[in-house]
Amino acid sequence: MKLEIDQQRLISEIETLAAFSDAEPPAVTRIVFTPTDLKARAWVIERCEEAGLAVRQDAIGNIFARWKGAEPAAPAVGTGSHIDAIPNAGKYDGVVGVLGGLEAIRGLQRSGFRPRNSIELLVFATEEPTRFGIGCLGSRLLSGTLSAEAATKLRDRGGESVDEVRKRAGLHGNLQDVKLAKGYYKGFVELHIEQGPLLELAQISLGIVKSIAAPASLRISIEGAGGHAGGVLMPDRKDALCAAAELILAVEHVARSSGALDTVATVGVCDVFPGAVNSIPSRVGITLDIRDTDLARRDGAMRTIERASRDIAAKRQVSIRSELLNADAPADCAPEVRGALAESCRQHGFPFLEMVSRAYHDSLFLSRIAPTGMLFIPCRNGYSHRPDEYAAPEDIARGALVLAESLATLSA
Ligand SMILES: [Zn+2]
Repeated sequence: MKLEIDQQRLISEIETLAAFSDAEPPAVTRIVFTPTDLKARAWVIERCEEAGLAVRQDAIGNIFARWKGAEPAAPAVGTGSHIDAIPNAGKYDGVVGVLGGLEAIRGLQRSGFRPRNSIELLVFATEEPTRFGIGCLGSRLLSGTLSAEAATKLRDRGGESVDEVRKRAGLHGNLQDVKLAKGYYKGFVELHIEQGPLLELAQISLGIVKSIAAPASLRISIEGAGGHAGGVLMPDRKDALCAAAELILAVEHVARSSGALDTVATVGVCDVFPGAVNSIPSRVGITLDIRDTDLARRDGAMRTIERASRDIAAKRQVSIRSELLNADAPADCAPEVRGALAESCRQHGFPFLEMVSRAYHDSLFLSRIAPTGMLFIPCRNGYSHRPDEYAAPEDIARGALVLAESLATLSA
């Protein structure tokens, strides 16, 4: 089997897809189910059909493009990622796994390989939490991690429900039917940029993921008392922003003192009401994002933060309420998928790093229903979710080559 990746075509397709954007280049903004995103999805579907793949979409908009194997009834081997992009993002997050996956399939077709198990490209819908406030909506539904009932309750910032939005996008099926049967996939591999600096620092161009860190996120609202910035004396204040400030520092402290570098916690949103220079903040909304490779340690950190928040509320006489948005378990990547990736690297003499994925991906949820693995390629300075995100063409092509060989191994 002579397997070759058409690097030039793959890079030019990545550039073409980047032009489906609501931001000035090089920035990419592609929020799920906007007119721009729908055009991008249609373009990807055309590329899949051009490659002779049979395309279907489910009710939430996950796109399946299948290359039929010699035993079509046997479980498929899957690969893929997402094409939606947060505001002001780059060209490579998700896209490398979708277009790289497609090129891996085309490379296998050109080589004359005939898969025993079907090989399927999966474009996950609504991976980014931008629109509906929860990440990986498509793969949560596929894996049954989120129920159809819970999904229908989600709304976007404009107040539109998931059902309204998806139906306008032409997706009329039943959300109950999105969940995949157990055994649907024999294995699943996602190619992705690292979104961190480790591969670049080590000057190694491939990373095989061992485990995916467990994310949790909360929305926290702090209610104090407002008042005139001149009139209310300091002993009488119930300043919600001062309470938030203490809580934010407590979050940082808890993560720093967990005893492991794998614990990370972030407050990335802080909405202050009324937000006037001469008014005491009466209400503050913050978000908490906390992750760890160890579930018990992450949950322990969450409990410590909860205690700190009760202490701060009592001391400052404010009320602090938190709402859990998601708390997912970590995932270990499957030995057979890691083995297939490592074997391909060894055959080419490509060095690789075994690593932890600190960002979470659709693979976290796929791993609940199928043996799953991930392959990372470096991105410059570890930058991601910003316009100067960059992955080198040769790294992308190398990733697609190793992906293709792993798909061949898993489907032979
Ligand atoms: Zn991604």
